[in-house]
Amino acid sequence: MRNRKPKNEPARRLVVLGGARGERREGAVWLVGAGPGDPDLLTIKALKALQGADVVVHDGLVSDEILDLAPAAARRISVAKRKSRHSYAQVEINRMLVAFAQEGLNVVRLKGGDPFIFGRGGEELEACREAGVDCHVVPGVTAALAAGANAGAPLTHRGSAQAVTFVTGHAASGSEPDLDWESLAKANQTVVIYMGVSTAAGIAGRLIGAGRAGSTPALVVENASRADERRVLTTLAGLPAATEQVAGPALLIVGEAMALALPTEEAAPAVLTEPKLELRR
Ligand code: SAH
Repeated sequence: MRNRKPKNEPARRLVVLGGARGERREGAVWLVGAGPGDPDLLTIKALKALQGADVVVHDGLVSDEILDLAPAAARRISVAKRKSRHSYAQVEINRMLVAFAQEGLNVVRLKGGDPFIFGRGGEELEACREAGVDCHVVPGVTAALAAGANAGAPLTHRGSAQAVTFVTGHAASGSEPDLDWESLAKANQTVVIYMGVSTAAGIAGRLIGAGRAGSTPALVVENASRADERRVLTTLAGLPAATEQVAGPALLIVGEAMALALPTEEAAPAVLTEPKLELRR
């Protein structure tokens, strides 16, 4: 994606980095989806972007195995949310991405799943556009897709799931999200709730209150696609209890098609051993 530079913008400061004398390099920001955890779910384009990175700015959901695909010389910066130490505000991250790119660096902003699904990638893209910095987006496998695949439960299914909706369980203010519960309560559709563990009781209550049957099949998937993936098969009414033991990132999935889901013991995430992909640095 090329960005139009605002009119009358002063010439961008360019820093010469190594190479031939007088060589000028323009930096760019790459918003890259790292997928839900399993490095095999990284796209080839994401791998290429990582291999070309001068700086990798990543959040906490990205594994070391994936970060190690960047050149050893690339600078790694974690902007993960931390309880004790300083965590970066979104505006600080935006500024950092723009500043590095303006120094002529190739900046990979690596995010769990897909950058545009509850990943705040849109805000970073806007910041780049405002600064006249090139910004490219590389999609990733969002957690819901891996969760459905590993459970053997399709998110859409002829006859029982004619639509799938991804919703957030948290509003920006930290309170309950303002969703169209009446519409989400209709049968024969799948609702995937991101960031909904702590609000599971409220969400289940809203859906049941708006008319969705408490007996609707539901699935909680923790650490989807990782070695410690765990699935709990339940019902909409059982969601609050099912989320009690959850410690890692988890999705709540509600819908008739979740009747097809298999418990963790019966379906481990598929691991491909062959052919080995040469992940060259
Ligand atoms: N951009 C990410 C979502 C970021 S929001 C994506 O596309 O997947 C963070 C939320 O995503 C977590 O609270 C959790 O609900 C969900 N999530 C991310 N990775 C997950 C995983 N491996 N397993 C289950 N849920 C996950």
